[in-house]
Amino acid sequence: MNLEKIMNNLEKKHPGENEYLQAVREVLESIEEVYNENPHFETANIIDRLVEPDRILTFKVCWVDDSGKVQVNLGYRVQFNNAIGPYKGGLRFHPSVNLSILKFLGFEQIFKNSLTTLPMGGAKGGSDFDPKGKSNAEIMRFCQSFMLELWKLIGPETDVPAGDIGVGGREIGFLYGMYRKLARENTGVLTGKGLNWGGSLIRPEATGFGAVYFAKEMLATKGESFKGKVVAISGFGNVAWGATIKATELGAKVVTISGPDGYIYDPDGISGEKIDYLLELRASNQDIVKPYSYEFPNAQFHQGKRPWEVKCDIALPCATQNELGKDDAANLIKNGVICVAEGANMPSTPEAIELFLANKVLFAPGKAVNAGGVATSGLEMAQNAMKLSWPMKEVDERLHHIMCSIHDACVKYGKGSDGYVNYVKGANVAGFLKVANAMLDQGVI
Ligand code: NDP
Repeated sequence: MNLEKIMNNLEKKHPGENEYLQAVREVLESIEEVYNENPHFETANIIDRLVEPDRILTFKVCWVDDSGKVQVNLGYRVQFNNAIGPYKGGLRFHPSVNLSILKFLGFEQIFKNSLTTLPMGGAKGGSDFDPKGKSNAEIMRFCQSFMLELWKLIGPETDVPAGDIGVGGREIGFLYGMYRKLARENTGVLTGKGLNWGGSLIRPEATGFGAVYFAKEMLATKGESFKGKVVAISGFGNVAWGATIKATELGAKVVTISGPDGYIYDPDGISGEKIDYLLELRASNQDIVKPYSYEFPNAQFHQGKRPWEVKCDIALPCATQNELGKDDAANLIKNGVICVAEGANMPSTPEAIELFLANKVLFAPGKAVNAGGVATSGLEMAQNAMKLSWPMKEVDERLHHIMCSIHDACVKYGKGSDGYVNYVKGANVAGFLKVANAMLDQGVI
Protein backbone atom coordinates (compact mmCIF):
# COMPACT_ATOMS: atom_id res chain seq x y z
CA MET A 1 0.00 0.00 0.00
CA ASN A 2 1.33 3.40 -0.93
CA LEU A 3 -0.33 5.32 1.90
CA GLU A 4 0.90 8.80 0.97
CA LYS A 5 -0.15 8.36 -2.68
CA ILE A 6 -3.62 7.22 -1.61
CA MET A 7 -3.98 10.12 0.81
CA ASN A 8 -2.69 12.67 -1.75
CA ASN A 9 -5.24 11.44 -4.28
CA LEU A 10 -8.04 11.60 -1.73
CA GLU A 11 -7.02 15.11 -0.63
CA LYS A 12 -7.12 16.24 -4.27
CA LYS A 13 -10.53 14.66 -4.83
CA HIS A 14 -12.04 15.85 -1.56
CA PRO A 15 -10.25 19.06 -0.56
CA GLY A 16 -11.11 20.44 2.87
CA GLU A 17 -12.87 17.28 4.07
CA ASN A 18 -10.53 17.17 7.04
CA GLU A 19 -12.46 14.88 9.42
CA TYR A 20 -13.03 12.33 6.65
CA LEU A 21 -9.36 12.42 5.59
CA GLN A 22 -8.27 12.10 9.24
CA ALA A 23 -10.44 9.02 9.75
CA VAL A 24 -9.25 7.35 6.53
CA ARG A 25 -5.58 7.97 7.36
CA GLU A 26 -5.98 6.48 10.85
CA VAL A 27 -7.52 3.30 9.48
CA LEU A 28 -5.07 2.88 6.61
CA GLU A 29 -2.05 3.38 8.88
CA SER A 30 -3.28 0.59 11.15
CA ILE A 31 -4.13 -1.91 8.43
CA GLU A 32 -1.09 -1.27 6.21
CA GLU A 33 0.83 -4.29 7.50
CA VAL A 34 -1.99 -6.83 7.17
CA TYR A 35 -2.95 -5.36 3.78
CA ASN A 36 0.57 -5.75 2.43
CA GLU A 37 0.73 -9.34 3.68
CA ASN A 38 -2.33 -10.21 1.55
CA PRO A 39 -1.64 -9.22 -2.09
CA HIS A 40 -5.15 -10.31 -3.20
CA PHE A 41 -6.50 -7.17 -1.44
CA GLU A 42 -4.38 -5.00 -3.72
CA THR A 43 -5.40 -6.98 -6.84
CA ALA A 44 -9.04 -6.40 -5.93
CA ASN A 45 -8.27 -2.70 -5.25
CA ILE A 46 -10.01 -3.00 -1.89
CA ILE A 47 -8.75 0.34 -0.56
CA ASP A 48 -10.10 2.47 -3.40
CA ARG A 49 -13.40 0.61 -3.15
CA LEU A 50 -13.59 1.03 0.61
CA VAL A 51 -12.70 4.70 1.06
CA GLU A 52 -15.43 6.04 -1.25
CA PRO A 53 -19.07 5.72 -0.15
CA ASP A 54 -21.40 3.62 -2.31
CA ARG A 55 -23.63 6.69 -2.66
CA ILE A 56 -24.54 9.99 -1.04
CA LEU A 57 -28.00 11.51 -1.00
CA THR A 58 -28.11 15.28 -0.40
CA PHE A 59 -31.42 17.03 -0.12
CA LYS A 60 -33.12 20.24 0.93
CA VAL A 61 -35.37 20.25 4.00
CA CYS A 62 -37.96 23.04 4.10
CA TRP A 63 -40.07 23.51 7.21
CA VAL A 64 -42.14 26.23 8.88
CA ASP A 65 -41.07 27.63 12.27
CA ASP A 66 -43.49 28.71 15.01
CA SER A 67 -43.52 32.32 13.77
CA GLY A 68 -44.68 31.14 10.34
CA LYS A 69 -41.34 31.72 8.62
CA VAL A 70 -40.04 29.10 6.22
CA GLN A 71 -36.65 27.65 7.15
CA VAL A 72 -34.32 25.68 4.91
CA ASN A 73 -31.76 23.11 6.05
CA LEU A 74 -29.58 20.55 4.29
CA GLY A 75 -30.15 16.83 4.73
CA TYR A 76 -27.78 13.96 3.92
CA ARG A 77 -27.50 10.18 3.92
CA VAL A 78 -24.10 8.66 3.21
CA GLN A 79 -24.38 4.94 2.40
CA PHE A 80 -20.81 3.75 2.71
CA ASN A 81 -20.58 -0.03 2.48
CA ASN A 82 -23.09 -2.87 2.74
CA ALA A 83 -20.87 -5.91 2.14
CA ILE A 84 -21.79 -7.57 5.44
CA GLY A 85 -25.35 -6.35 5.97
CA PRO A 86 -27.86 -3.53 5.42
CA TYR A 87 -26.49 0.00 5.77
CA LYS A 88 -26.68 1.02 9.41
CA GLY A 89 -25.68 4.22 11.21
CA GLY A 90 -27.11 7.19 13.04
CA LEU A 91 -28.54 10.55 12.04
CA ARG A 92 -26.91 13.66 13.50
CA PHE A 93 -28.77 16.97 13.78
CA HIS A 94 -26.27 19.69 14.64
CA PRO A 95 -25.28 23.01 13.01
CA SER A 96 -21.73 21.69 12.44
CA VAL A 97 -22.96 18.84 10.20
CA ASN A 98 -21.40 18.78 6.74
CA LEU A 99 -20.33 16.13 4.25
CA SER A 100 -16.85 15.72 5.73
CA ILE A 101 -18.23 14.94 9.17
CA LEU A 102 -20.83 12.50 7.86
CA LYS A 103 -18.28 10.77 5.62
CA PHE A 104 -15.89 10.35 8.55
CA LEU A 105 -18.69 8.96 10.70
CA GLY A 106 -19.95 6.66 7.91
CA PHE A 107 -16.44 5.37 7.22
CA GLU A 108 -15.83 4.64 10.92
CA GLN A 109 -19.21 2.95 11.09
CA ILE A 110 -18.14 0.27 8.58
CA PHE A 111 -15.46 -1.06 10.94
CA LYS A 112 -17.48 -0.50 14.11
CA ASN A 113 -20.42 -2.48 12.75
CA SER A 114 -18.09 -5.20 11.55
CA LEU A 115 -16.66 -5.50 15.08
CA THR A 116 -20.09 -6.02 16.65
CA THR A 117 -20.28 -9.57 15.23
CA LEU A 118 -23.69 -8.66 13.75
CA PRO A 119 -24.54 -8.31 10.02
CA MET A 120 -24.60 -4.54 9.53
CA GLY A 121 -22.98 -2.31 6.88
CA GLY A 122 -21.85 1.28 7.45
CA ALA A 123 -23.75 4.53 6.86
CA LYS A 124 -24.42 7.91 8.47
CA GLY A 125 -26.71 10.83 7.86
CA GLY A 126 -28.12 13.98 9.32
CA SER A 127 -28.68 17.67 8.89
CA ASP A 128 -27.29 21.06 9.87
CA PHE A 129 -30.59 21.61 11.71
CA ASP A 130 -30.11 22.62 15.37
CA PRO A 131 -32.77 21.13 17.67
CA LYS A 132 -31.55 23.29 20.55
CA GLY A 133 -34.08 25.95 21.53
CA LYS A 134 -36.72 24.64 19.10
CA SER A 135 -40.23 23.80 20.21
CA ASN A 136 -41.55 20.25 19.96
CA ALA A 137 -43.80 21.32 17.09
CA GLU A 138 -40.84 22.76 15.18
CA ILE A 139 -38.82 19.60 15.71
CA MET A 140 -41.77 17.51 14.52
CA ARG A 141 -42.23 19.58 11.35
CA PHE A 142 -38.51 19.40 10.61
CA CYS A 143 -38.35 15.62 11.15
CA GLN A 144 -41.39 15.06 8.94
CA SER A 145 -39.93 17.13 6.13
CA PHE A 146 -36.56 15.35 6.50
CA MET A 147 -38.23 11.95 6.23
CA LEU A 148 -40.17 13.01 3.15
CA GLU A 149 -36.87 12.68 1.24
CA LEU A 150 -35.03 10.07 3.30
CA TRP A 151 -37.70 7.38 3.14
CA LYS A 152 -37.01 6.70 -0.54
CA LEU A 153 -33.55 5.39 0.34
CA ILE A 154 -34.12 3.38 3.51
CA GLY A 155 -35.89 0.17 4.53
CA PRO A 156 -35.58 -2.59 7.12
CA GLU A 157 -33.46 -4.74 4.78
CA THR A 158 -31.60 -1.92 2.99
CA ASP A 159 -30.71 0.93 5.35
CA VAL A 160 -31.67 1.36 9.00
CA PRO A 161 -30.85 4.79 10.53
CA ALA A 162 -30.69 5.48 14.29
CA GLY A 163 -29.95 8.45 16.57
CA ASP A 164 -26.74 10.37 17.18
CA ILE A 165 -26.00 13.89 18.43
CA GLY A 166 -29.27 15.86 18.46
CA VAL A 167 -31.38 12.83 17.56
CA GLY A 168 -32.86 11.01 20.55
CA GLY A 169 -36.11 9.19 21.27
CA ARG A 170 -38.30 12.20 20.45
CA GLU A 171 -36.77 12.76 17.00
CA ILE A 172 -36.79 9.03 16.17
CA GLY A 173 -40.51 9.05 17.05
CA PHE A 174 -41.32 11.89 14.65
CA LEU A 175 -39.17 10.35 11.91
CA TYR A 176 -40.71 6.92 12.36
CA GLY A 177 -44.26 8.30 12.34
CA MET A 178 -43.70 9.92 8.96
CA TYR A 179 -41.94 6.86 7.51
CA ARG A 180 -44.79 4.61 8.62
CA LYS A 181 -47.31 6.86 6.90
CA LEU A 182 -45.34 7.15 3.65
CA ALA A 183 -44.28 3.51 3.36
CA ARG A 184 -47.53 2.12 4.75
CA GLU A 185 -45.67 -0.41 6.86
CA ASN A 186 -44.68 -0.99 10.49
CA THR A 187 -41.15 -2.29 10.32
CA GLY A 188 -37.80 -1.94 12.03
CA VAL A 189 -36.68 0.79 9.65
CA LEU A 190 -35.21 2.92 12.44
CA THR A 191 -33.66 1.87 15.73
CA GLY A 192 -33.87 3.67 19.04
CA LYS A 193 -37.67 3.41 18.81
CA GLY A 194 -39.99 3.81 21.80
CA LEU A 195 -40.63 0.67 23.82
CA ASN A 196 -44.30 0.64 22.89
CA TRP A 197 -43.68 0.64 19.16
CA GLY A 198 -40.79 -1.74 18.47
CA GLY A 199 -37.93 -0.37 20.54
CA SER A 200 -35.56 -2.50 22.57
CA LEU A 201 -34.96 -2.36 26.28
CA ILE A 202 -31.47 -1.04 27.11
CA ARG A 203 -31.07 0.74 23.72
CA PRO A 204 -30.99 4.23 25.31
CA GLU A 205 -28.33 3.15 27.82
CA ALA A 206 -26.47 0.82 25.46
CA THR A 207 -23.69 3.06 24.15
CA GLY A 208 -22.66 4.32 27.59
CA PHE A 209 -23.11 0.93 29.27
CA GLY A 210 -21.18 -0.76 26.47
CA ALA A 211 -18.36 1.79 26.76
CA VAL A 212 -17.99 1.02 30.45
CA TYR A 213 -18.15 -2.75 29.83
CA PHE A 214 -15.36 -2.32 27.30
CA ALA A 215 -13.26 -0.15 29.64
CA LYS A 216 -13.79 -2.75 32.37
CA GLU A 217 -12.17 -5.36 30.10
CA MET A 218 -9.28 -3.00 29.35
CA LEU A 219 -8.70 -2.40 33.07
CA ALA A 220 -8.85 -6.13 33.77
CA THR A 221 -5.82 -6.68 31.51
CA LYS A 222 -3.87 -4.72 34.16
CA GLY A 223 -5.62 -6.33 37.13
CA GLU A 224 -7.59 -3.10 37.66
CA SER A 225 -11.32 -2.30 37.89
CA PHE A 226 -13.67 0.70 38.19
CA LYS A 227 -13.99 0.24 41.94
CA GLY A 228 -12.75 3.31 43.81
CA LYS A 229 -11.55 5.05 40.62
CA VAL A 230 -12.09 8.71 39.73
CA VAL A 231 -13.61 9.13 36.27
CA ALA A 232 -13.67 12.23 34.05
CA ILE A 233 -16.45 12.27 31.45
CA SER A 234 -17.14 14.88 28.76
CA GLY A 235 -20.54 15.85 27.40
CA PHE A 236 -23.79 14.96 29.05
CA GLY A 237 -25.85 13.53 26.26
CA ASN A 238 -27.03 10.02 25.63
CA VAL A 239 -23.60 8.39 25.77
CA ALA A 240 -22.22 10.29 28.77
CA TRP A 241 -25.44 9.63 30.69
CA GLY A 242 -25.24 5.84 30.28
CA ALA A 243 -21.51 5.81 31.02
CA THR A 244 -21.98 7.88 34.19
CA ILE A 245 -24.66 5.51 35.49
CA LYS A 246 -22.71 2.31 34.77
CA ALA A 247 -19.34 3.62 36.01
CA THR A 248 -21.01 4.71 39.26
CA GLU A 249 -22.74 1.33 39.54
CA LEU A 250 -19.33 -0.37 39.27
CA GLY A 251 -18.01 1.67 42.21
CA ALA A 252 -16.33 4.62 40.48
CA LYS A 253 -16.84 8.33 41.17
CA VAL A 254 -17.65 10.43 38.10
CA VAL A 255 -16.43 13.97 38.76
CA THR A 256 -16.97 15.83 35.48
CA ILE A 257 -19.47 16.45 32.72
CA SER A 258 -19.22 19.12 30.02
CA GLY A 259 -20.91 21.14 27.32
CA PRO A 260 -19.58 23.31 24.49
CA ASP A 261 -19.14 26.24 26.91
CA GLY A 262 -17.16 24.54 29.69
CA TYR A 263 -17.17 21.73 32.21
CA ILE A 264 -18.43 20.96 35.69
CA TYR A 265 -16.15 19.53 38.34
CA ASP A 266 -18.09 17.95 41.18
CA PRO A 267 -15.72 16.51 43.81
CA ASP A 268 -18.64 14.73 45.50
CA GLY A 269 -19.43 12.70 42.37
CA ILE A 270 -22.27 12.95 39.86
CA SER A 271 -24.86 10.29 40.60
CA GLY A 272 -28.43 9.59 41.77
CA GLU A 273 -30.62 12.70 42.07
CA LYS A 274 -27.99 14.81 40.29
CA ILE A 275 -28.39 12.70 37.18
CA ASP A 276 -32.19 13.00 37.43
CA TYR A 277 -31.78 16.79 37.65
CA LEU A 278 -29.57 16.82 34.54
CA LEU A 279 -32.10 14.74 32.64
CA GLU A 280 -34.87 17.18 33.54
CA LEU A 281 -32.81 20.08 32.22
CA ARG A 282 -32.02 18.20 29.01
CA ALA A 283 -35.67 17.36 28.45
CA SER A 284 -36.53 21.04 28.69
CA ASN A 285 -34.00 21.87 25.92
CA GLN A 286 -31.93 24.02 28.30
CA ASP A 287 -28.19 24.30 28.77
CA ILE A 288 -27.32 21.88 31.49
CA VAL A 289 -23.79 22.54 32.58
CA LYS A 290 -24.02 26.00 34.15
CA PRO A 291 -27.29 25.48 36.07
CA TYR A 292 -25.79 22.35 37.66
CA SER A 293 -23.25 24.47 39.55
CA TYR A 294 -26.05 26.71 40.92
CA GLU A 295 -28.06 23.72 42.09
CA PHE A 296 -25.12 21.84 43.67
CA PRO A 297 -22.85 24.51 45.16
CA ASN A 298 -19.89 22.18 45.83
CA ALA A 299 -19.53 21.82 42.08
CA GLN A 300 -17.46 24.32 40.09
CA PHE A 301 -18.12 25.47 36.54
CA HIS A 302 -14.98 26.05 34.44
CA GLN A 303 -15.92 28.35 31.59
CA GLY A 304 -14.35 27.58 28.20
CA LYS A 305 -12.29 24.68 29.57
CA ARG A 306 -12.28 20.92 28.98
CA PRO A 307 -12.44 18.32 31.75
CA TRP A 308 -9.05 16.81 30.86
CA GLU A 309 -7.21 19.10 33.30
CA VAL A 310 -8.79 17.29 36.26
CA LYS A 311 -6.89 14.54 38.09
CA CYS A 312 -8.54 11.22 37.23
CA ASP A 313 -7.78 7.52 36.79
CA ILE A 314 -10.09 6.94 33.85
CA ALA A 315 -11.14 9.36 31.09
CA LEU A 316 -14.22 8.74 28.97
CA PRO A 317 -14.58 11.40 26.23
CA CYS A 318 -18.28 11.17 25.30
CA ALA A 319 -19.09 14.48 23.58
CA THR A 320 -17.82 15.02 20.05
CA GLN A 321 -14.94 14.69 17.57
CA ASN A 322 -11.52 16.24 18.24
CA GLU A 323 -12.39 17.34 21.79
CA LEU A 324 -9.19 15.94 23.33
CA GLY A 325 -5.95 17.33 21.90
CA LYS A 326 -2.26 16.80 22.52
CA ASP A 327 -2.11 19.17 25.53
CA ASP A 328 -5.15 17.51 27.07
CA ALA A 329 -3.52 14.09 26.63
CA ALA A 330 -0.31 15.39 28.21
CA ASN A 331 -2.33 16.72 31.18
CA LEU A 332 -4.12 13.41 31.67
CA ILE A 333 -0.85 11.47 31.54
CA LYS A 334 0.83 13.90 33.95
CA ASN A 335 -2.09 13.40 36.35
CA GLY A 336 -1.72 9.62 36.25
CA VAL A 337 -4.58 8.49 33.98
CA ILE A 338 -4.46 4.72 33.42
CA CYS A 339 -7.28 4.23 30.92
CA VAL A 340 -8.83 6.39 28.17
CA ALA A 341 -11.84 4.87 26.41
CA GLU A 342 -13.58 6.88 23.70
CA GLY A 343 -17.37 6.95 24.12
CA ALA A 344 -17.68 9.53 21.34
CA ASN A 345 -16.56 9.09 17.73
CA MET A 346 -12.96 10.25 17.15
CA PRO A 347 -12.84 12.58 20.20
CA SER A 348 -9.03 12.36 20.42
CA THR A 349 -6.84 14.05 17.82
CA PRO A 350 -4.14 11.93 16.11
CA GLU A 351 -1.47 13.75 18.18
CA ALA A 352 -3.27 12.90 21.44
CA ILE A 353 -3.56 9.23 20.42
CA GLU A 354 0.13 9.11 19.57
CA LEU A 355 0.95 10.38 23.05
CA PHE A 356 -1.30 7.85 24.80
CA LEU A 357 0.23 4.99 22.81
CA ALA A 358 3.80 6.22 23.34
CA ASN A 359 3.15 6.33 27.10
CA LYS A 360 1.53 2.89 27.08
CA VAL A 361 -1.72 4.22 28.53
CA LEU A 362 -4.64 1.85 28.02
CA PHE A 363 -6.32 3.65 25.10
CA ALA A 364 -9.20 2.44 22.91
CA PRO A 365 -10.93 4.13 19.97
CA GLY A 366 -14.63 4.96 19.66
CA LYS A 367 -15.27 2.38 16.97
CA ALA A 368 -14.61 -0.35 19.56
CA VAL A 369 -15.66 1.36 22.79
CA ASN A 370 -18.98 2.83 21.63
CA ALA A 371 -20.02 -0.08 19.40
CA GLY A 372 -22.51 -1.18 22.06
CA GLY A 373 -24.99 1.40 20.74
CA VAL A 374 -25.17 0.05 17.23
CA ALA A 375 -24.85 -3.52 18.52
CA THR A 376 -28.01 -3.04 20.57
CA SER A 377 -29.61 -1.44 17.52
CA GLY A 378 -28.75 -4.72 15.78
CA LEU A 379 -30.48 -6.55 18.63
CA GLU A 380 -33.49 -4.26 18.15
CA MET A 381 -33.57 -5.21 14.46
CA ALA A 382 -33.42 -8.90 15.39
CA GLN A 383 -36.33 -8.50 17.82
CA ASN A 384 -38.33 -6.56 15.20
CA ALA A 385 -37.71 -9.27 12.61
CA MET A 386 -38.94 -11.93 15.06
CA LYS A 387 -41.80 -9.65 16.18
CA LEU A 388 -41.04 -10.11 19.85
CA SER A 389 -39.12 -8.32 22.56
CA TRP A 390 -36.48 -9.67 24.87
CA PRO A 391 -36.39 -8.90 28.59
CA MET A 392 -33.91 -6.32 29.88
CA LYS A 393 -31.58 -8.93 31.36
CA GLU A 394 -31.28 -10.75 28.06
CA VAL A 395 -30.46 -7.62 26.06
CA ASP A 396 -27.96 -6.46 28.68
CA GLU A 397 -26.26 -9.87 28.74
CA ARG A 398 -26.02 -9.93 24.94
CA LEU A 399 -24.58 -6.40 24.98
CA HIS A 400 -22.04 -7.39 27.62
CA HIS A 401 -21.08 -10.48 25.63
CA ILE A 402 -20.65 -8.45 22.42
CA MET A 403 -18.41 -5.89 24.17
CA CYS A 404 -16.23 -8.73 25.51
CA SER A 405 -16.03 -10.21 21.97
CA ILE A 406 -14.96 -6.84 20.56
CA HIS A 407 -12.33 -6.57 23.28
CA ASP A 408 -11.04 -10.07 22.43
CA ALA A 409 -10.81 -9.14 18.74
CA CYS A 410 -8.83 -5.98 19.58
CA VAL A 411 -6.43 -7.98 21.73
CA LYS A 412 -6.05 -10.65 19.04
CA TYR A 413 -4.94 -8.16 16.38
CA GLY A 414 -3.49 -5.43 18.58
CA LYS A 415 -1.27 -7.15 21.16
CA GLY A 416 2.42 -6.42 20.62
CA SER A 417 5.42 -8.55 21.57
CA ASP A 418 5.81 -6.53 24.80
CA GLY A 419 2.22 -7.39 25.80
CA TYR A 420 0.88 -3.83 25.27
CA VAL A 421 -2.41 -3.84 23.38
CA ASN A 422 -2.71 -1.25 20.62
CA TYR A 423 -6.52 -1.13 20.52
CA VAL A 424 -6.49 1.28 17.56
CA LYS A 425 -4.67 -1.25 15.43
CA GLY A 426 -6.63 -4.19 16.85
CA ALA A 427 -10.02 -2.59 16.15
CA ASN A 428 -9.12 -1.42 12.67
CA VAL A 429 -7.56 -4.71 11.56
CA ALA A 430 -10.37 -6.87 12.96
CA GLY A 431 -13.05 -4.60 11.48
CA PHE A 432 -11.29 -4.34 8.12
CA LEU A 433 -10.58 -8.06 7.57
CA LYS A 434 -14.23 -9.10 7.87
CA VAL A 435 -15.46 -6.45 5.44
CA ALA A 436 -12.59 -6.85 2.96
CA ASN A 437 -13.02 -10.62 2.84
CA ALA A 438 -16.77 -10.22 2.31
CA MET A 439 -16.03 -7.86 -0.60
CA LEU A 440 -13.64 -10.41 -2.09
CA ASP A 441 -16.21 -13.21 -1.72
CA GLN A 442 -18.89 -11.19 -3.51
CA GLY A 443 -16.89 -10.06 -6.54
CA VAL A 444 -16.59 -6.67 -8.19
CA ILE A 445 -19.94 -4.91 -7.95
P1 NDP B 1 -26.03 13.97 22.47
O1 NDP B 1 -26.51 15.01 21.53
O2 NDP B 1 -27.02 13.20 23.26
O3 NDP B 1 -24.96 14.62 23.48
C1 NDP B 1 -23.81 15.29 23.07
C2 NDP B 1 -23.24 15.95 24.31
O4 NDP B 1 -21.98 16.55 24.02
C3 NDP B 1 -24.13 17.06 24.85
O5 NDP B 1 -24.04 17.04 26.24
C4 NDP B 1 -23.48 18.32 24.27
O6 NDP B 1 -23.74 19.47 25.04
C5 NDP B 1 -22.04 17.94 24.35
N1 NDP B 1 -21.20 18.66 23.40
C6 NDP B 1 -21.44 18.93 22.09
N2 NDP B 1 -20.42 19.61 21.56
C7 NDP B 1 -19.51 19.74 22.55
C8 NDP B 1 -18.24 20.34 22.63
N3 NDP B 1 -17.70 20.94 21.57
N4 NDP B 1 -17.58 20.28 23.81
C9 NDP B 1 -18.12 19.66 24.88
N5 NDP B 1 -19.33 19.10 24.86
C10 NDP B 1 -20.01 19.13 23.71
O7 NDP B 1 -25.11 12.99 21.61
P2 NDP B 1 -24.69 11.49 21.94
O8 NDP B 1 -24.43 11.34 23.38
O9 NDP B 1 -25.63 10.60 21.26
O10 NDP B 1 -23.31 11.39 21.12
C11 NDP B 1 -22.06 11.79 21.67
C12 NDP B 1 -20.95 11.15 20.87
O11 NDP B 1 -21.10 9.73 20.89
C13 NDP B 1 -20.91 11.53 19.39
O12 NDP B 1 -19.56 11.52 18.95
C14 NDP B 1 -21.67 10.40 18.71
O13 NDP B 1 -21.33 10.25 17.36
C15 NDP B 1 -21.16 9.23 19.55
N6 NDP B 1 -22.01 8.03 19.53
C16 NDP B 1 -23.33 8.07 19.91
C17 NDP B 1 -24.08 6.92 19.92
C18 NDP B 1 -25.47 6.88 20.44
O14 NDP B 1 -26.01 5.76 20.56
N7 NDP B 1 -26.10 7.99 20.77
C19 NDP B 1 -23.52 5.64 19.42
C20 NDP B 1 -22.11 5.70 19.12
C21 NDP B 1 -21.41 6.86 19.14
P3 NDP B 1 -25.01 20.39 24.67
O15 NDP B 1 -26.21 19.49 24.71
O16 NDP B 1 -24.98 21.42 25.73
O17 NDP B 1 -24.72 20.91 23.29
